[in-house]
Amino acid sequence: MYRHGNTWFDPVSLGVSVGRMPTPAVGSPPPVPKPAVSAIQAVVTRKCNLNCDYCNVKLSGDRELTMSSPVVDRVIRAAGDAPAGRLVMVTGGEPLLVPDITLGILSSIEPPSVLFTNATLMNHDLALKIRDTGAAPVVSLDGMGESHDRNRCGSFEAAARGLDVLRNSGVPFGISTVVTRANLRNFDGEIEAVLDRFQPVSIGCNILHWTPAGFDPVTGEEYADAMERVFRTALRRGMFVDQIARRLTPVITGKYRHRDCAAMGGKVVFHPDGGVSNCISSRTVADWSGRIPAFMDQCDNCHAAGVCGGGCAWDGVHLGTRGGPDPRHCLWTKRVLDLFLEDIEMSFPSGPVPREMLLERYGPLVSRGTSTLKSSIGHGEK
Ligand code: SF4
Ligand code: SF4
Repeated sequence: MYRHGNTWFDPVSLGVSVGRMPTPAVGSPPPVPKPAVSAIQAVVTRKCNLNCDYCNVKLSGDRELTMSSPVVDRVIRAAGDAPAGRLVMVTGGEPLLVPDITLGILSSIEPPSVLFTNATLMNHDLALKIRDTGAAPVVSLDGMGESHDRNRCGSFEAAARGLDVLRNSGVPFGISTVVTRANLRNFDGEIEAVLDRFQPVSIGCNILHWTPAGFDPVTGEEYADAMERVFRTALRRGMFVDQIARRLTPVITGKYRHRDCAAMGGKVVFHPDGGVSNCISSRTVADWSGRIPAFMDQCDNCHAAGVCGGGCAWDGVHLGTRGGPDPRHCLWTKRVLDLFLEDIEMSFPSGPVPREMLLERYGPLVSRGTSTLKSSIGHGEK
């Protein structure tokens, strides 16, 4: 039984109780479900009209290839063969540099689908075509003005124009941010300003992934501090933040989160040269099914195991000690869980807190309807 302040959290049942320790659940955590294909990702081109400092494609040293027709056909077939509810993600480089390929895939498959774009090439005609495919755009934006421009080639004005086009065309979109040295100090303020200015359906706050060259991320402590401030903002505004929703949902639903990313089993990434991998950062298929809390020694007896899912396996491989998880992930995950327990203590009377009451208070933070953007994109566990 884990205690934070005056709140108890049962790591087996994922139940919470204020003011007194509940009877601990007997037994073990639920068994790990067999992975099924839940995410198909198509990297349609490795070309981009920008040259951002932390670009994974650039830092991986990849050539600027574009997907050929036979590979496009394989993507479409894989999407059709995957179990119902799978997510298709179209990414780059910048996918709108090759609109025929991008729209060709999105219009040949059933939603749910997501298009990751920097939005700088967006226009009204493209926005309507994207809307007709049923795909949800997710736009990279690291803050307002200079906070975005420092790492992203001065592209704020162009990205803002693209976001305005999407909104004015009636296309719901999400925004994906990276926590960097340029926006760290006022990250929560940047997030609020972005929300007020562009009104996205959802927002993601990412820590940089490990890359073979040029890896200069904020520290785990700095990221955890930024996410603490974002958590308080999300609570105040009732906003959906992808990374926070993934941590809160298991406690609210009582359903374990065994895998934080489908790359641990269930993700297929098609690269432009026809290569296939299980992770966008990798170029080969690796069996990472053991990189989840249920199977990692480092996670034995960790109270956060049921909400955690092990974080990013790629970062764990490169940054974890003794083959374990990325320590940055453990730090911020436990921090957010503590903040959640603190808020529960302040919000509920003494005794076990029913899940319906948790859902009533925290519902807006974990889901806002049925849009593809309103659940964790590409991190679903099937
Ligand atoms: S927080 Fe870290 S140690 Fe705990 S379960 Fe998750 S990955 Fe394992
Ligand atoms: S393992 Fe990490 S880098 Fe790879 S797809 Fe998952 S979150 Fe992305």
